[in-house]
Amino acid sequence: MHVVLWDTRKRDVSKDFAGGMGIGQYPDRGAVRDKIIRYFFRRDRRPVALLFAHLAAIFRRLGHGVEYAEDRIVPGADLYVFNPSLITLDLERGAIAEVLRANPAARVLVVGTVASVMPEAFADLGVTVVKGEAEQLLWKLDEVLARPGATVQLGVIEDLDALPFPDWSPFAPRRFRIGYDFWKFPTALIQQSRGCTLKCNYCPYLLLDGGNRLRNPEAVVDEIRHDIRHWGFRSFKFRDPLFGADRKNVFRLAELIARMPEKIQFSIETRIDLMRPEVLRVLKRVGLTSITVGIETPDDETLRRYHRAPIKEDRQAEFIRLCRAMGIRTVAGFLIGFPEDTERSIRSVLAYAKTVGPTFANFNVLTPYPGTEFFEQVKDQIADFDFSHYDVYTPVMKCRDLSIERVAELHAKCFRHYYFRWRYLRDNAHLLQPALGRLGIGRAKPVAPTADADGPHATPAGPKSGLEILDESRRLRADGPHSRSAKDLTERKPGE
Ligand code: SF4
Repeated sequence: MHVVLWDTRKRDVSKDFAGGMGIGQYPDRGAVRDKIIRYFFRRDRRPVALLFAHLAAIFRRLGHGVEYAEDRIVPGADLYVFNPSLITLDLERGAIAEVLRANPAARVLVVGTVASVMPEAFADLGVTVVKGEAEQLLWKLDEVLARPGATVQLGVIEDLDALPFPDWSPFAPRRFRIGYDFWKFPTALIQQSRGCTLKCNYCPYLLLDGGNRLRNPEAVVDEIRHDIRHWGFRSFKFRDPLFGADRKNVFRLAELIARMPEKIQFSIETRIDLMRPEVLRVLKRVGLTSITVGIETPDDETLRRYHRAPIKEDRQAEFIRLCRAMGIRTVAGFLIGFPEDTERSIRSVLAYAKTVGPTFANFNVLTPYPGTEFFEQVKDQIADFDFSHYDVYTPVMKCRDLSIERVAELHAKCFRHYYFRWRYLRDNAHLLQPALGRLGIGRAKPVAPTADADGPHATPAGPKSGLEILDESRRLRADGPHSRSAKDLTERKPGE
């Protein structure tokens, strides 16, 4: 078969984010400062969704030809696969209709999170909707193709290592870059695990509900080597929603990366309470450049209301300070637009972001994703059901005391006031542009010896050899008194 993977980059969509619902980018609200912020958002060409690279590998393994089509209709293929995001759902529906008009005999599969959560959105198109993790097509393609027009539930994959490595060749991967995490490119996406054991009730990562599943670190590092050999990737963004849920697995991964002859950069997304200093130190030494964490809001009551376990304020500030001292960038997500938000509470989020001081503060607007418990909880307060606005930068929900227009103004203020400060530039210039760091601009102050600093911008301890890292990782893999796993977090009562 000739298989076409249809995709779009319109509306600045990044489909891999928000659990596959996709996100947009900071909008141009007219002010010069907005345009500058937007420039930094848009300068990268982000990798296509990891799901597409997996599907390319799967279809090729099954003996089919694969073509990637970005915002264009390829005539004459046998099978078209769509992976819609929420914000481009109408565009994807339009493209499906166009494909079927031009080629009525073709088969169309719709896959991904939106397909899984909202199969009814495609009911009138006569396509096959695949619910669950679409990589199961490796084993179930014939079964799915035998059911035109149906919705087929495939469930989730138990053994992630049974999947072939992603195949990036159809997507011009040498152009992929994520500049807020790295300074070496191209950038690949990769996963060490899927799922999350926590239960924040607004979280779209829980929609496929597969629980936390780990890959074998040996397989992850084989995939990194494969990616380097075939496409020259130099940086890797781990797309696990909760990296480091299993501490031993992380140390084993670090050992294996340390043994690689190629030096890579990588970034992770995790919770602050999973990243003890000794874990940070080991990961930094083998190439960790950036960590994404969700801080959300300093208001613990609000977090508990939506089933998110808060983390103590001083712990968050200390974590960011330690990362800075080690030369690790931090990308912290803050949330505004909770139903109970007021002018004051949103201003306190901005003030807290300035106090904590991550390299990048991403002020997201809380978005009620269909399928989440939160969506049902706030349905009456949703003012805008046009899903093309569900990009995490546009308010769609009324707050008790604020109109959505006022939330939008406050959202823009958060961005403008966070980034356009001398202190911000002074503290971050060397992380935003490492060449400035070499000139001594924006260097972090040397960190106190107790804080485990060893980054290039702190105590010049120098890189350790692979063997030394190996020894240290082995020592740390034995659960010590400071170990913390995701299991500990789920077993805590919220707020502990
Ligand atoms: S910690 Fe919460 S927001 Fe993050 S992936 Fe888990 S459930 Fe989602």
